[in-house]
Amino acid sequence: MSGGSRIGVMGGTFDPIHNGHLVAASEVCHALALDEVIFVPTGQPWQKADRDVASAEDRFLMTVIATAANPLFTVSRVDIDRPGETYTVDTLRDLRAARGPDAEFFFIIGADALSGLPTWKHAEDLLTLAHFVGCTRPGHQLAGGVLLEGRFSLIEVPAVEVSSTVCRERVRAGLPIRYLVPDGVVEYIAKRGLYLGQDDD
Ligand code: NAP
Repeated sequence: MSGGSRIGVMGGTFDPIHNGHLVAASEVCHALALDEVIFVPTGQPWQKADRDVASAEDRFLMTVIATAANPLFTVSRVDIDRPGETYTVDTLRDLRAARGPDAEFFFIIGADALSGLPTWKHAEDLLTLAHFVGCTRPGHQLAGGVLLEGRFSLIEVPAVEVSSTVCRERVRAGLPIRYLVPDGVVEYIAKRGLYLGQDDD
């Protein structure tokens, strides 16, 4: 194959990673014929200062467990090994440095988050570093807001009605999360006692 690798980048707090994340990454990987999707757990997410977030190592290990069976999925430590708050511009610069000038990056995010992109740090540089792929869900109306011109696209992914917030709330309430997250992540959360007695708000 000529040219560099086509690499998806799925950044997330992944607190915890769930099947909605995995389905979105898998769909985009297939639709854009990507060679790999790198999952990148955030270090210190700057927008989540209002609640406790599981440690970076716990979120990293859950992401490794969740993605282990898919040969096209890998996990990067760039965000958790970089001190300070996590910004996507740094994520993409670090991945570019690691993967070389020929790699083509596709940053995968929820479609609504695309409209927030202009507020992200060094927003004007982001579109020079990656294409941005917004995942829409069937029947989902996009929130209003100004989208950046240029290198972004929308891909509809099957709706998997699960969120990290719901998973944490269910664990705290003693409800099952099996089939919402991969089995290994269910076991890891139980073994480490994550999300028990923790209040989100
Ligand atoms: P997250 O809550 O863990 O989610 C990761 C991604 O998965 C999000 O785009 C989310 O979209 C999507 N997702 C969640 N549930 C889904 C489902 N059921 N089906 C399909 N997709 C689903 O991560 P996050 O905290 O939003 O962070 C995402 C990335 O954006 C991180 O890499 C973060 O560093 C980056 N970010 C950067 C800046 C900045 O540089 N200033 C600011 C904000 C975020 P939805 O939001 O639609 O659920």
